[in-house]
Amino acid sequence: MTEYSNEFMETEIGFDAAPARLTVDLSAIVSNWRTMRALSGTARTGAVVKADGYGLGIEDVGEALYEAGAADFFVAVPEEGATLRRFAPDARIFVLSGMWPGTEAMFFENGLVPVLASEEQLAFFFAAIADYGDYPCALQVDTGFNRLGLSHDEALRLAADDARPASFSPVLVLSHLACGDDAAAPMNREQLARFRDVANAFEGVEASLSASAGILLGADYHFELTRPGIALYGGDSAPGASKKLQPAATAEARIIQTRFAKKGENVSYGATQQLARDSRLAIVSAGYADGYLRAKSGTGVPLRDAVPAGGMGFIAGHRVPILGRITMDMTIFDITDLPESAVRAGDYVELFGPNIALDDAAAAAGTIGYELLTSLGLRYNRRYIQPD
Ligand SMILES: *Cc1c(COP(=O)(O)O)cnc(C)c1O
Repeated sequence: MTEYSNEFMETEIGFDAAPARLTVDLSAIVSNWRTMRALSGTARTGAVVKADGYGLGIEDVGEALYEAGAADFFVAVPEEGATLRRFAPDARIFVLSGMWPGTEAMFFENGLVPVLASEEQLAFFFAAIADYGDYPCALQVDTGFNRLGLSHDEALRLAADDARPASFSPVLVLSHLACGDDAAAPMNREQLARFRDVANAFEGVEASLSASAGILLGADYHFELTRPGIALYGGDSAPGASKKLQPAATAEARIIQTRFAKKGENVSYGATQQLARDSRLAIVSAGYADGYLRAKSGTGVPLRDAVPAGGMGFIAGHRVPILGRITMDMTIFDITDLPESAVRAGDYVELFGPNIALDDAAAAAGTIGYELLTSLGLRYNRRYIQPD
């Protein structure tokens, strides 16, 4: 048997031959950040880059935004902060899940700011900085979401507590809106009122309430710092919100085979799609393991009742529907309506991008652009377009 030596083995396929490939347009991301900055009025504009920069790569996205002037970043967990630190040397990096035993060294060594959300986290933080010395933190206050945060009363008590350690110096107090995507929801005003109380109680401490959707609710919601995430990546935070933004990601997959099939034959697992006409099919190299969610299938996925039709791809100037169930590594598209010479094995089908809006691709799976982006997986060959 041949023995393969590590030294000379090819381990990467080029972008032009990749089974599935993703183009991330960093100049679009920077432009979207500037758009959100303009919409944030007098507030500073942060950047939320959790979940690997919404699936698009925290290193490249973080560096591009840092170079463009973003100085306040938000990540979910400490490891994300430590990764980002290498690309944003003097930015403030907030870790939304806070600090807990076993993570303090990662915070201190990388200069990460914990967002503390409970009495328990506060007690641990006080103990940790008793040894370490002065250290910044942020406070999250729950104003109605019932996810993370001190209660309104806990926050007000803390603000008035003279017994808290002298070294306790929060740099930011923040909360998160539940219904920011619905400008008419009464809950927005209610959360705003509760948050105002807390922000006033922490006099001299900066306040932050709004993610992408909240920024669009107007100046009352801006405070000193805003926290856009999905808008940077060109997705909808509220219905239609991304119309003013640039698409930042294009996902494509290669056709590995085309085939003809007769009227009455079936397609894919479960044989749930019966062809209504003689058809030409394109077998494409991306499936649910690439975040091309099975719920987007053309037919035959039990429980997918939220959306009537499956997803679409885009090739040779046309939208083409998915046929039958999406499988782990492959998806089948109906290319019958295209001239035979227009599509060949080796061509790429756009899964989403400039021609298939991210949010339309997500809606076909009964979900949101956020989930589609953060599900992309590891198999895409990635190309980054640098900002000029
Ligand atoms: C994820 C998140 C954001 C960003 O939200 P988008 O809707 O993506 O703009 C902001 N703040 C908090 C607390 C978050 O969890």
